Amino acid sequence: MASLIPASAFAGPCNLLGKSLEELRAFLESLGEPAYRGAQIYHALYAERRFDFAGMTNLPAKLRERLAREALIALPRIMRKHISADGTIRYVLALDALAEDSAAKDSQKTARSLTPATIETVFMPEENRQTICISTQAGCAVDCHFCLTATLGLIRNLTAGEIIGQVLIALEENRAALKPQTNVVLMGQGEPLLNFDPVMAALRILLDPNAMAISAKHVTLSTSGIVPGIERLALEKVRPKLAISLNASSDEQRDEIMPINRKYPLEALLDACRRYPLRPWEHLTFEYVLLGGFNDSVDDARRVVKLLANLRSKVNLIPWNPGDLPYSKPDPARIEAFRKILADKDVRAFVRYSRGQDVMAACGQLALMEMGAGTQSLTQISPG
Ligand code: SAH
Ligand code: SF4
Repeated sequence: MASLIPASAFAGPCNLLGKSLEELRAFLESLGEPAYRGAQIYHALYAERRFDFAGMTNLPAKLRERLAREALIALPRIMRKHISADGTIRYVLALDALAEDSAAKDSQKTARSLTPATIETVFMPEENRQTICISTQAGCAVDCHFCLTATLGLIRNLTAGEIIGQVLIALEENRAALKPQTNVVLMGQGEPLLNFDPVMAALRILLDPNAMAISAKHVTLSTSGIVPGIERLALEKVRPKLAISLNASSDEQRDEIMPINRKYPLEALLDACRRYPLRPWEHLTFEYVLLGGFNDSVDDARRVVKLLANLRSKVNLIPWNPGDLPYSKPDPARIEAFRKILADKDVRAFVRYSRGQDVMAACGQLALMEMGAGTQSLTQISPG
């Protein structure tokens, strides 16, 4: 968890977004206020989505004025909004260099965190729910060869506030049309388990019934297979569902498209999956991006069945979404043949066509592409 930095430790006002209940209580105490005021702010921020102190009317007027001077609630800024024909919205968000990072002890980390960055958040409306896909890093260092985000490299890690801020913004922007259920997927830019502490801090707020109150059943963290991260996640009291990007049926094949496989090969990865403590209602999800003519054969499907034996799991088959990369979409007949082999061997498998492809909002397409039609420039408009 991010350590509490008292307001006095830096010149600028303290950004409260992303702070835990304990951190907010301690911050209010550091101002000479009762700790329960911190709990009130925690509820106002995350449960009521109030982003200005003036609107927190259960706080005394004097305290609201003081907070307006000494603290701030800094949400990411919406730079662009790309709207797909299927209703999916891709937000391009600007992140500031944050004052609080200047208090970080590690000077290298400071330099990286101070970099302003641009990320993407995707809002997908459905009949009875909405799914919000959030980024955990700006860019990504993992370098999967079929994924456009990889071409950005790692720009920087996001803070807990920047991670939770994406969900808050997407909900606020679509406030009038919200459905009863919200799903959150950590499948935007970045590898969540390589930014573990801020991701966990954001998840605790997301899953806390006194904060954003999203059910753990509706939040999914997707990883390229960072084994030590999976082992750490297994020890957490509060955790989302876990999805693993398998994407290949052998080490040889996975090495070729996901260099991370050389560090954490299939045996180590699947071993960590077998040891992962699933809750009674839970299963692991394996994502398998189908790359036409590369990993979509009948033999591949048979090997996947073997790899996943003895795992309580399901498989999401994701036909590759095109980008400027040397792969092709799989043939529809091969997709169906692949799915059927899995299903016939009692491996639950679903074909997931990504939404928002026309505005580059689909899985693996998040690389800050500018679009023409369906684009609104929102540089003048602040959220809320
Ligand atoms: N970094 C994490 C989460 C973000 S990527 C991870 O890799 O799991 C989310 C999903 O998109 C992953 O399953 C990834 O394999 C998949 N993906 C990446 N590029 C894709 C593409 N071009 N088409 C379809 N899926 C893609
Ligand atoms: Fe990073 Fe995931 Fe893309 Fe791989 S697929 S480069 S881990 S975002």
